[in-house]
Amino acid sequence: MTQDEQPAARAPANHADVVIVGTGHGGAQAAISLRQQGHEGPIMLIGRDAVHPYERPPLSKEYLSGEKSFERIMIRPETFWADKGIDVRLGKAVSAIDPQAHTLTLSDDTTIGYRKLIWAGGGDPRRLGVPGASLKGVFHVRDKRDADAMMMALQTGARRAVVIGGGYIGLEAAAALRKQGCEVAVVETLDRVLARVAGTDLSRFFEDEHRRQGVDVRLSQTIGAILGEDGAVTGVELEGGETIACDMVVVGIGIVPAVAPLIAAGAAGSNGVDVDVYCRTTLDDVYAIGDCAAHANPFADSAVIRLESVQNAHDMANTAARAIVGDKQPYYALPWFWSNQYDIKLQTAGLNIGYDATVLRGDPETRRFTVAYLKEGRPIAFDCVNAMKDYVQGRKLLEREVERIDPELLADTDVPLKEMV
Ligand code: FAD
Repeated sequence: MTQDEQPAARAPANHADVVIVGTGHGGAQAAISLRQQGHEGPIMLIGRDAVHPYERPPLSKEYLSGEKSFERIMIRPETFWADKGIDVRLGKAVSAIDPQAHTLTLSDDTTIGYRKLIWAGGGDPRRLGVPGASLKGVFHVRDKRDADAMMMALQTGARRAVVIGGGYIGLEAAAALRKQGCEVAVVETLDRVLARVAGTDLSRFFEDEHRRQGVDVRLSQTIGAILGEDGAVTGVELEGGETIACDMVVVGIGIVPAVAPLIAAGAAGSNGVDVDVYCRTTLDDVYAIGDCAAHANPFADSAVIRLESVQNAHDMANTAARAIVGDKQPYYALPWFWSNQYDIKLQTAGLNIGYDATVLRGDPETRRFTVAYLKEGRPIAFDCVNAMKDYVQGRKLLEREVERIDPELLADTDVPLKEMV
């Protein structure tokens, strides 16, 4: 019998040895990992979502563009959870935690007891604070319901979309909507897209690509109001007074960590909830993982940050699960991320926080290139566009913590990154 196949004890209705809040990437992986690590006690997985755990990245990519069905984006088949003895409670929100009593309260007033709690609440979409932000036809992209509502709008005739926010999710949504024949405008407050996460070379490349695909990219523009008629969106008014007519608006301006019950219970945290190297919060027996967990990241010179990526949710889940089964290993994982837009596959490795120089490896005109980020001569991150080899070899280079690379060598595409170690 493999560890995966170990029988699990039956959980009493309102108590579990490990309770996990959040059925997203972090929560699902924490449950999987606990069983893989040999944890045999009752596990309960509680989430607000009404459906079993699924992958979020396709919601702004292949799911939204209709290329992947819901079944194909489920993290495990529905039967998996019961097979592993994991008690999944769907459509339930946790409203309060009593860390002394080791209990939590659900929105329907049920009390659930735990020995260990893993909080994997992720985040809620940041809302626009302008008039008209709640009109029919204004969408966010965080869960399946959001994507389904957008797809329904498209099916019922929406043809002109304004995407607010030129971050990864906004740009991916713009690409998915273009693929379906929508007229799309992207409005970004800063003077380039992806400004918070990437260097100028990558921003300009994506702006050009979107424009080539027919997207109206508006930079340095702030939204004044969302306009409507009979309760439904008819356009977006920019602060300068110009109006962009549309019948749907997609807001992609980031998330607010979903940690209110934890903070109310006394956990430390200002941007999310603070965790140590084992993903422990300051509350006894309470762990936090994924998008909501602020941690000192070794790949950011130990700056305290939150990472919003599948990699981080997955690896933190494993760290917390190991700590709970008594195999404590500090969180140490090279950050990586990807984004698909049109036929472009971007893969990033490392974190570019605090970079002081970039080196362009290859020509963006060829639609295959890499941006290397350096800090005091040391490579700290790579953004690789349709450049799989650079991504794989760049990861190795970062893991080896190479102190210095000659920028000229780095720019030479004839020299593979692996030869620079
Ligand atoms: P989530 O997956 O968000 O799960 C949190 C869960 O907790 C949710 O189900 C929520 O409903 C639930 N919850 C919150 N509060 C409560 C409560 N009080 N009670 C009960 N349940 C609660 N990452 C990448 O690496 N690559 C990508 O290409 C990429 N694309 C993305 C595209 C989209 C549209 C989105 C939304 C995200 C994308 N991400 C991507 C980010 C990635 O999906 C997240 O980093 C990851 O899902 C984080 O996992 P998590 O478990 O921390 O949070």
